[in-house]
Amino acid sequence: MTTDTVIRLEGLSRVFGAGAARTLALTGASLTVAAGEFVVLRGPSGSGKTTLLTIAAGLDEPDEGAAWIAGTPLTGAAEAEAARVRREVIGYVDQDFALVPFLTAAENIELPLRVAGTGARERRARTREMVDAVGLADHAAQRPDEMSGGQQQRVAVARALVRRPRVLLADEPTAQLDSATAASVISVIVEHVRRDAMAALVASHDATVAERADRVVEIHDGRLRG
Ligand code: ADP
Ligand code: MG
Repeated sequence: MTTDTVIRLEGLSRVFGAGAARTLALTGASLTVAAGEFVVLRGPSGSGKTTLLTIAAGLDEPDEGAAWIAGTPLTGAAEAEAARVRREVIGYVDQDFALVPFLTAAENIELPLRVAGTGARERRARTREMVDAVGLADHAAQRPDEMSGGQQQRVAVARALVRRPRVLLADEPTAQLDSATAASVISVIVEHVRRDAMAALVASHDATVAERADRVVEIHDGRLRG
């Protein structure tokens, strides 16, 4: 492990269910991502991508192994500590977007800055910058139920990046996008990786995403290789 390791996952195993319904979602998965590195986690549906990302974000606990983000252990940590790391260090793009339904696109994107106590002037500037970066200037005042799946997905990516986090964990962030829009959203992510030395771990089976990665890690039946 080098000193610039920001995401560190060691021997993660996760079992769901029991008896005939027992599923090994992850088996001995170890992975590190350095500052300024863009790693794609590539695998078919059901291979364990979401399970790995939720453990990396401290949203789920592994049965074995442990996760560290920026040197802070998340596994076994108090919920308040995991929540602090998510708030201060991690930008997370949920597979199902997890937007706030009664807020507009711009308000959803702005939300992490409000939580962080960023001043109004900077909040407006950063929000505008991210709205434009993901191509939603014409939809900024719409609520999630007034947007397409692809538009909602772009809101989720912009919201995850607006605080310029040290870590991005993104779960299939281009699944709802056409290839041109996907390419532009990935460019926004790559820009943050290069400019802010963000560590990015992105689950995807999209070839246009893997193409831009520094490294592709394959996952099959909960096992990593590559
Ligand atoms: P992916 O994100 O690659 O599609 P997941 O991590 O969602 O894969 O799932 C990995 C395996 O674990 C799948 O077989 C899935 O059905 C199972 N699984 C995931 N979450 C749960 C859960 N909460 N309860 C039971 N099984 C689950
Ligand atoms: Mg998934």
